[in-house]
Amino acid sequence: MILVLFGPPGAGKGTQAAFLCKELNIPQIATGDIFRKHLKEGTELGKLARSYMNNGQLVPDEVVWDIVETRLAQDDCANGMLLDGFPRTVRQAELMLGWLDGQGRVLNAVLALEVPDEELVLRLSGRRTCRDCQATYHVAHNPPGEDGRCVRCGGEVIQREDDQEDTVRKRLATYHRDTSPVLAFFEERGYAHRIDGTGAIEDVTRRLRDALA
Ligand code: ADP
Ligand code: ADP
Ligand code: ZN
Repeated sequence: MILVLFGPPGAGKGTQAAFLCKELNIPQIATGDIFRKHLKEGTELGKLARSYMNNGQLVPDEVVWDIVETRLAQDDCANGMLLDGFPRTVRQAELMLGWLDGQGRVLNAVLALEVPDEELVLRLSGRRTCRDCQATYHVAHNPPGEDGRCVRCGGEVIQREDDQEDTVRKRLATYHRDTSPVLAFFEERGYAHRIDGTGAIEDVTRRLRDALA
């Protein structure tokens, strides 16, 4: 199964990807997580990506595609994968569909989470992220363990630099300008399912399962 989990920053892609990937037994490919890993390791790619990420802008398409193409070719993607946070531009979507086509593979579905901007700002400003495994939490809706550490790996739970309010606003503007056209692109081609991303986390999971069934 090859899936794209689409939606604005803070829509719940990472949160829901964790459930879906476990159920479907496919790897989660999250471009933001890949960039943050490079950032932590201080690689050249990490330094480049950081300048865009912390300004609420997108990393250039060629850089993103280079990484995604390499990742998709790995063995664990043979039975499928869930893309989280990719594609974010129409160009990226075209590159992905072209690559799949060349491999004789098809995209099964694009699950598009819809959440209003005011709610996204609340979610992102309260988001906390595990420094080690990238699991996401929320100070009110989904808190980390009692000791304030990651429930999954025991790592330190921090606020991402780009989850500061001014950067959040820039990321939403970038989403509306550059990324929302990707949804129309997928709709025209019959891949997209719009899913209400509001309400309790488990309710959203149920809607995603229903859409897949
Ligand atoms: P969120 O979970 O809030 O949607 P991500 O962790 O997916 O954010 O991405 C963080 C940042 O990494 C983005 O704001 C952007 O700068 C960069 N990034 C991630 N994925 C892509 C992509 N597919 N294309 C361009 N930039 C990306
Ligand atoms: P994305 O990967 O799309 O940027 P996340 O999965 O990181 O989004 O979720 C953003 C923030 O909102 C996190 O703090 C997460 O715990 C919280 N969150 C996710 N889903 C919900 C929900 N249904 N209701 C309230 N908060 C949520
Ligand atoms: Zn962790």
